[in-house]
Amino acid sequence: MSTITDNINKLRNQIRSAAATYQRSADGIKILAVSKTHSASAIAQAHEAGLFDIGENYLQEALEKQAQLTHLPLTWHFLGPVQSNKTKAIAENFTWVHTVDRLKVAQRLSAQRPAHLPPLNICVQVNISQEATKSGCAIDELTELASAIQNLDNVTLRGLMIIPQPSTDFTEQRAAFRQTNLLMQELNQQLGLQLDTLSMGMSDDLEAAIAEGATCIRIGTAIFGQRN
Ligand SMILES: *Cc1c(COP(=O)(O)O)cnc(C)c1O
Repeated sequence: MSTITDNINKLRNQIRSAAATYQRSADGIKILAVSKTHSASAIAQAHEAGLFDIGENYLQEALEKQAQLTHLPLTWHFLGPVQSNKTKAIAENFTWVHTVDRLKVAQRLSAQRPAHLPPLNICVQVNISQEATKSGCAIDELTELASAIQNLDNVTLRGLMIIPQPSTDFTEQRAAFRQTNLLMQELNQQLGLQLDTLSMGMSDDLEAAIAEGATCIRIGTAIFGQRN
């Protein structure tokens, strides 16, 4: 068995066990394989082990791997900061964007989404730890942003994404994830939305994320090993 297959099997067990502990169905937790710096053949191995959702952070790197993997039925998710001059290629080549944090980017993605494709799924990235330097929408601007995105034609707002400040404390990890879940519920109530996606949890905090309702965990290291 390849290391990647082995890692994915271990990850699945970890997810099943966390789901059971927190009385959730493991079926409601999607594994997004985050493959930045890893090769197209590593992605193909992850697919072989049953994964379909692939996350990439850098446009050029992603396009190169996509070109090598057109024979596989993969769903591509963009996870990096979205620069305005990259929105067209992102709108054309991805199914999801998890890192929308301002209206201008959402407007461009909507305007540039090709007509023959379904609306682009997007998550608003929230700056949950309120760090000055970090990307993500400020919590107090979230309702306004979500409301404006909701009115765009060719994107579908699906939920929220966070990259919390790293912590080794389980309780602290859970707090940021819980707050994000509550923010999504508030948006659904206030704006009458049906957001269903909480993109949260990485290799080191996936159990806390599952405890607080993550529906999509973004896993790199625990699948592909350390990045260089
Ligand atoms: C790299 C990355 C991940 C995966 O992180 P690991 O700790 O390797 O699992 C998840 N989300 C985003 C946005 C990333 O950039």
